[in-house]
Amino acid sequence: MRLILLGPPGAGKGTQAQRLVAKHGIVQLSTGDMLRAAVAAGTPVGLQVKDIMERGDLCPDDIVVSIIADRIAQPDAKNGFVLDGFPRTVAQAEALERMLHEKGLDLDGVVELKVDEAQLLRRIESRIRQTLARGEPLRKDDDPEVLKTRLDAYRRQTAPLIHHYREKNLLRAVDGMAPVDEVTAAINWIFAKPKRQITSTKSATPQKTQTKLQKQKKKAKPAARKPARVSGSAKARGGRVAAPKKAAPKKAAAKGAKKSAKRR
Ligand code: AMP
Repeated sequence: MRLILLGPPGAGKGTQAQRLVAKHGIVQLSTGDMLRAAVAAGTPVGLQVKDIMERGDLCPDDIVVSIIADRIAQPDAKNGFVLDGFPRTVAQAEALERMLHEKGLDLDGVVELKVDEAQLLRRIESRIRQTLARGEPLRKDDDPEVLKTRLDAYRRQTAPLIHHYREKNLLRAVDGMAPVDEVTAAINWIFAKPKRQITSTKSATPQKTQTKLQKQKKKAKPAARKPARVSGSAKARGGRVAAPKKAAPKKAAAKGAKKSAKRR
């Protein structure tokens, strides 16, 4: 499973990413965490991005793209990954698409955590209080002024990705202001294993019944069937199929036939 969590800072991407990791045995790839580690270790990349991050601006695309390319190539990412904080620009999204394409891989979906910006500020303030209460050091960008810059960067550079992924029919929006467990449940529902897999484009009949039908087919040729409809949101769940419309009951059909015979 390969997916992206999209949403402004403080939307809860990190929390949901950790839950997806636990549920699906995939890895969380957070560019923010990787960049902070580089800053802490004083690597050349770390030195290059330190001030940018402290201001709340976005780091250069080529740096984050190369970090992600290295990380995706590692063995633990083979099982799948949840991208948290990447991509943040259309150029990064396109680089990711090229990267995955070269490996013959696809994205399963992009979850947009929709949030109210005024409430985000309150969330960040409460995060600051909790961090201080635990006696842990604050992140330099956990600051209301820096948050405004980060929200601005999100609106200008990252929000266009919503349109980008909607066009590709990969986007699924979730109410990020709902309680954490409800957000998790909504995400799990999106990526739930389909109860009925589409076995062919001609029929959505489950495998067992299909075998029976195939036997019957040999005796009588049934009327042609329309291909099953798959809704947009169902596509992300692996193609849950809408129930086919029931045919008119035989009795009613027979009655109708009698009536029209009388009229004649
Ligand atoms: P985060 O922890 O995801 O909020 O990221 C913290 C900071 O790291 C951001 O404010 C940016 O300065 C930088 N950063 C993280 N991911 C990216 C990215 N994909 N592109 C550019 N900058 C990033």
